[in-house]
Amino acid sequence: MNLKKLSPIGYWLLFAVLIIVVMIILVVQDILKRNVEEIHEIKETPTYVLKIDYPITNNKKINKEIEEYIESKKKEFIVTAEEASSIMNAQYDFKINYEMYSIESIEFVHLILYSFTGGAHYNQEDKVWIYDKDTNKKVDITYFLEDDTFSKLQTITIDEIKKYYQDNNYVIDEEWIKEGTKSKESFSIFKIKEDNVEITFPPYEVGPWSMGNVVIQIPKDKLIGIIKPIYLQYEQIDQPSISIPQEKRDLSTLKDKKLLAFTFDDGPGGKTTTKLLDNLDQYNARVTFFVLGSRVNNFSNNLKRAYEMGNTIGSHTYNHFNLYKLDLEEQLKEITNTNDAIASVTGKKPIYLRPPYGNIKNEAKEQSGMYTILWDIDTEDWRKKNADKIADHIVKHAHDGGIVLLHDIYEYSVDGALKAMKMLKDEYAFVTIDEMIELKGKTLEPLKSYYSF
Ligand code: ZN
Repeated sequence: MNLKKLSPIGYWLLFAVLIIVVMIILVVQDILKRNVEEIHEIKETPTYVLKIDYPITNNKKINKEIEEYIESKKKEFIVTAEEASSIMNAQYDFKINYEMYSIESIEFVHLILYSFTGGAHYNQEDKVWIYDKDTNKKVDITYFLEDDTFSKLQTITIDEIKKYYQDNNYVIDEEWIKEGTKSKESFSIFKIKEDNVEITFPPYEVGPWSMGNVVIQIPKDKLIGIIKPIYLQYEQIDQPSISIPQEKRDLSTLKDKKLLAFTFDDGPGGKTTTKLLDNLDQYNARVTFFVLGSRVNNFSNNLKRAYEMGNTIGSHTYNHFNLYKLDLEEQLKEITNTNDAIASVTGKKPIYLRPPYGNIKNEAKEQSGMYTILWDIDTEDWRKKNADKIADHIVKHAHDGGIVLLHDIYEYSVDGALKAMKMLKDEYAFVTIDEMIELKGKTLEPLKSYYSF
């Protein structure tokens, strides 16, 4: 095409086409970006700790509902925590995790809220939003059912709840179960899994408060003719993998330098973790990720990539509970569930544990068989929120054998880590916990907590 030969109308047409192309690119970028965007809020006061992670979906209306829900729950918690702390001095705890997945065009957003305001346990509250990405309309359980089969689902559900009563040694209360399953709103927390449909009834809905959440799993073969065939066939894409090869470095090239281990908690993250992984090679760095089990499925691609590159994957437990506030059985569940989640992506169970807040007792160390890795260089990145300040802190405190604590869910933390690597790279080799232990010739003891090597 010869631009000189274009008529004025041709110029305008070309101009219009260019504008449209630019607009399309911007819209597509925006959609791609929003797919992985999430919000993190972390706050620590003498009275309470808040740790909230939630996604930004492509549906503005749902985003608003999610925000309003979180805002009201947060306010409620803060009031309760402040009242409680005036009676009993303790640190209360509020956290929100989420899980997001889609089947065909249907997107599921599952928020799980945990709060600790005294007592023996964390309280759990689940909330699910489901919408069709094509129409942007919200859908409920009946969307997945064949016409007029809701009553059949109710009957099967009631049977399963009765079984749940029996298995947990409760006396069956028919009326209560009927009342709690009578409307489609009672079926608002559910998950279509590979071979069953899991339905959760919050405390007090189908039984006494002491039963807690009643979670039942209806095998899919019982749902033939009830659920639409397309959702019966559904298989999870993330199949447990066998063993994935992991790159190993020639450690002899690193041993003449001082060693520094960068460790990243609270992930895996989305684009922030991607940025970190993209930039490790230029500093010849490998690092350690202490990931949360609850986030493994949401960001399994980054976890897999991190592992394959030769980074060490450790556990930061499933829900980021303060283990001091759980009984031993619950503590071990937090640990084993995370190990299983990680192994379903990497094919290998982790052996290192970083308990949230560094809190773990000997019996959990002993029974879990994990090695406890803490840190001695705390960047307080989440408080500083500034890459330069984070980098300065690392450079100032770096020493041979040091372990740096960071969080790869924040961009300023990733930028700060990379800046520090740039400044320290002549003097230091950036190694994983695995590599550090090998290079230092250490044998770990299960009951010890390691702050540095
Ligand atoms: Zn953490």
